[in-house]
Amino acid sequence: MKIQSIRGFRDILPPQSGIFASFEAKAREVFARYGYSEIRVPTVEMKELFVKSTGETTDIVEKEMYAFEDAGGRHLALRPEGTPGVVRAYIENNLHAQDPRRKFFYVGSMFRAERPQAGRYREFEQIGMEYFGNAHPAADAESIALLASVLSAAGLTDFRADINSLGCAQCRPVYRQNLIAFLNSRKDALCENCKKRIETNPMRALDCKTDGPELFRTAPAQEFCPGCAEHFAAVQSLLKETGTPFEVNRAVVRGLDYYSRTVFEFRSSAIGAQDAIAGGGRYDALVGSMGGPQVPAIGWALGADRVVSLLEKNAAPQSGPGVFVVSMEEATHRTAFRLLAQLRAAGVCADGGAFAQSMKAQLRAADRCGAKFAVIIGGDEMQKRAAALKNLQTGEQKEIPFDDLPSILKK
Ligand code: AMP
Repeated sequence: MKIQSIRGFRDILPPQSGIFASFEAKAREVFARYGYSEIRVPTVEMKELFVKSTGETTDIVEKEMYAFEDAGGRHLALRPEGTPGVVRAYIENNLHAQDPRRKFFYVGSMFRAERPQAGRYREFEQIGMEYFGNAHPAADAESIALLASVLSAAGLTDFRADINSLGCAQCRPVYRQNLIAFLNSRKDALCENCKKRIETNPMRALDCKTDGPELFRTAPAQEFCPGCAEHFAAVQSLLKETGTPFEVNRAVVRGLDYYSRTVFEFRSSAIGAQDAIAGGGRYDALVGSMGGPQVPAIGWALGADRVVSLLEKNAAPQSGPGVFVVSMEEATHRTAFRLLAQLRAAGVCADGGAFAQSMKAQLRAADRCGAKFAVIIGGDEMQKRAAALKNLQTGEQKEIPFDDLPSILKK
């Protein structure tokens, strides 16, 4: 019986896995430069955490969550996004105790039972950040600039940043009522989903794939309270100071319940239908509503799989090991293996040990894995205590004393 991977779940193989790793490493560097520390939170949480924070009526929770009951009868879920777990950790570990202003980033798998297609998986990787305890527009501008920096550091240039404001607990309900009245006035023309959304989540109608574009043109525009208007203007002016290009786009409403004020999405036309690479926004009420202190926050998550698919197009071929150690006969295997260990200990990228194969086959293996040099050891070499060092590109061969090999190959 051959067991296969599950639909929507995939193996990430070399060289793609290497591109993931180098993208993550670059992201880590940028986070450090902006003063963020890594947080690692569980993959599995109480289901209720996501229902309460992400929101009961969101697609993620309503349709896409991997929820299950464990043997102890607890209702659990695989995390569909990063923010709820980080917020829980912030509250549970009293991370606000010394100073509510804390900055975290995370890297990890998220799980959503969406219909799989190119660029859309059921397990996918997000890199994200959460910035707690700063209500000032400077935090919004920093978050957005940070996202652009992470993408640029990875070598991505082809993306656009759209920002918007959703208003706050004062001005949003007014807008919500206006929008509900507007949607009700044309209920017959709406898709089934949007009909249901009128009462549960009317803002979502604006980013509905079917009705959104038309509604967006005709729906009443949001009016902000003075505080929100001022905040959004300041975000834009501070963001300009960072040199991050962006556009205001009223269609960015985000799918989740917890956002307030600034929201943003980054897209790239270079990846096809699934063009969203990242999204986020401010969530000033979430920490308080989850039982924590009234601490404002802002965060985003980017889809690493989608970024990697863009980077893959221009990725340089992965380089092989510098050296491949070849042993000609039974009597030389131990010495060859010791040299291999010495090379590695000296910091040389070395492979070898394919001693079950003939010398010719070992040299072929050296070529196939992309090694630049072969170190060849046979009876003669044992006697002279010097290996044959073969340049696999030019075919040129030299004799190098065993003792000198590590230092010469290190160079
Ligand atoms: P979201 O939390 O939905 O705003 O997602 C943030 C980013 O994660 C998106 O912009 C995508 O790049 C990525 N993403 C979301 N869902 C998936 C998925 N099913 N497969 C791959 N990437 C995804």
